[in-house]
Amino acid sequence: MRVLLVNPPDVDGQLTDREDRHAGFCSGLYPPYTAASILGVLRQRIPDLDLQVFDARLENLPVDQGLQQVHALKPDLIICLLGTYTLDEDRPYAELEYPTIGVICPSSVDPKEAIELFGLTTPYFTKTEIENTLAEAVKEFQETGDIRKTPGMVLQQGNQLLDTGASQFQSVSEFAMPAFDLLPMDEFFRLQKERLGWHWEFGSNRYMWMVTSKGCVKQCTYCSSSTLRPFYKTPQQVVDEIRHYIDTYQVRHFDFIDSEFTVNVARAKEICQGFIDAKLNIKWVAHNIIELVDEEMMRLMGEAGCLKLKYGLETADPEIQRRILKPWSIPQAKKAFDLTKKYGMKAQANFMVGFLGETKETLKQTHRAFVELEPDIVCSSILFPTPSTAFYEELKARDLLLVRNWSEYKKYGKMVFKHDHYTTWEEFQDAWAWLEARIARSLAWKRLFRRNGQPFLLKVINVIKADPKLKRGLQRLPLISSLGRLVSRRFQLQQLRHEQAQLLP
Ligand code: SF4
Repeated sequence: MRVLLVNPPDVDGQLTDREDRHAGFCSGLYPPYTAASILGVLRQRIPDLDLQVFDARLENLPVDQGLQQVHALKPDLIICLLGTYTLDEDRPYAELEYPTIGVICPSSVDPKEAIELFGLTTPYFTKTEIENTLAEAVKEFQETGDIRKTPGMVLQQGNQLLDTGASQFQSVSEFAMPAFDLLPMDEFFRLQKERLGWHWEFGSNRYMWMVTSKGCVKQCTYCSSSTLRPFYKTPQQVVDEIRHYIDTYQVRHFDFIDSEFTVNVARAKEICQGFIDAKLNIKWVAHNIIELVDEEMMRLMGEAGCLKLKYGLETADPEIQRRILKPWSIPQAKKAFDLTKKYGMKAQANFMVGFLGETKETLKQTHRAFVELEPDIVCSSILFPTPSTAFYEELKARDLLLVRNWSEYKKYGKMVFKHDHYTTWEEFQDAWAWLEARIARSLAWKRLFRRNGQPFLLKVINVIKADPKLKRGLQRLPLISSLGRLVSRRFQLQQLRHEQAQLLP
């Protein structure tokens, strides 16, 4: 039986991912991990399948020509990856005359709601879990020519939607190695260089996603991972997988897209120790949770080649933190950031604008906290509701959701939910631009005045003050003189603000 896995093309000329962990637009051209993971499990569990792949992102063809290529492969069954925010663009590949299983990414999204909202006609969908469900579904299809019983699916039969119950989870530790060998990897690496040239973390080196776990033990209300059951690959499995990518594809740069790499601290330490012992000499970036940071883990991560840790702080306002179930304190975050830097990694702090209850005052609180924490990199965005999360359900229940078409959510072009403070999309944008610019400006000043923890400019000013000849000489130059006064005043102001920031809880 020929099974064709289809990854639809990029949307609106933007690099578009459809991964179990996330879906949407992306800053790099990564070989699709979820596709390779599905193929690996299918090959392991049903060895006699004729597995084919059509990755339309590489072909860059108009839809009609892309569909011709699908027809030319004469599949008996299609498995089509679909992005939650690109369903309209992706659906032509999932609604052909062939029996097709749609896999909506991220897998936390409820396919029943997608079918109702978008009128999708694809006959079969996975829900919640992907690889194991697909292996069982393909087996059933191979035996009976239909899928009716496999748990963890939503089926369309006539006008009826059938839910086959909870997914059955196979331990990730039993998962096969992702079958990247079935994908045109050389083509991906060629396009990484040709289309992008330079990756902002990995430079001109080849890079790949890496997944060591799924789901999360935390319950942040806006996050798709909070609804997924956590499960983990073993440390040895992770080391073997990385070694395989080094040996096979000469890749040594990895973006770990686990929800949070350190969510199981003991396991994260073992993985890092494994990288060190095996002398893998890799470079990687990952997400981290501030309250789980301990010094030994940070030391191991630094030694194991971690370049950067991303911390999703989102907001410093305690009331909003409580509502979104994302509590953290400045001392905790300070410790995490200091240890990250101490062991040679960059600390990235992320914030989002648009949480319910947000006001200018709460934004100022976030600003003060970020200046205090001094992250190396700040990333930000405007909040949008991810379907099936607690935040999305709250908006629906309170009749605050203005737009049901998920495709609009990542376009950042209109207000998609009612806010208690912002009344127009422009107000969301202004708040975001205000906070981003203010944090950037304050951090730039702080770095200028306190380079390497030293009051750098103060030293310069004191040297000038201590040398009357130099001082008199500089004062004769009107431009230098007025600049000096300006810098001096700005420095005093900055010191004052810094001291105020120290008073934060
Ligand atoms: S800790 Fe991170 S991955 Fe886990 S639920 Fe919260 S935001 Fe999501």
